Amino acid sequence: MRLQTCRRHPSAGRFLVTCSGCTQELYDIEQANRARAEAERAAKVRAALGLRDAKVRPEMGETATRVSRWSVRELDDSFARVGGTVTAQQVQRTLPHGETYTVVEVTLVANVSGVGRVEAFTDWDPADETHGFALPVIRALAA
Ligand SMILES: [Zn+2]
Repeated sequence: MRLQTCRRHPSAGRFLVTCSGCTQELYDIEQANRARAEAERAAKVRAALGLRDAKVRPEMGETATRVSRWSVRELDDSFARVGGTVTAQQVQRTLPHGETYTVVEVTLVANVSGVGRVEAFTDWDPADETHGFALPVIRALAA
């Protein structure tokens, strides 16, 4: 068998079938394109849901298709834009010093054209933020 040398990556050394330099370069192109497509998808989702910031915040539990809204008011703004199905569940949160408290996590699942299923969510304290009961997003709560 004849060993070859890549004209593009001569420093990768001689190889039998595939140049490791070419393999790495193809992988890098795929990764860059995937990252760009993911960023475009995230920007599209966030614009559709009414967020001004296109940057995904993983530390807030966000992904390209799952966004955190500041309050039930902002979630209602997303609901007005894209509609969807609304659910709520009680969750316990723990403060840094260990104290726990209960809130209602409200989740909106909607369909964004060209993207598909997306989620927006927020914490709501009904006893404190009583205005939430009058909002369409809360009136639409699914059983
Ligand atoms: Zn090569």
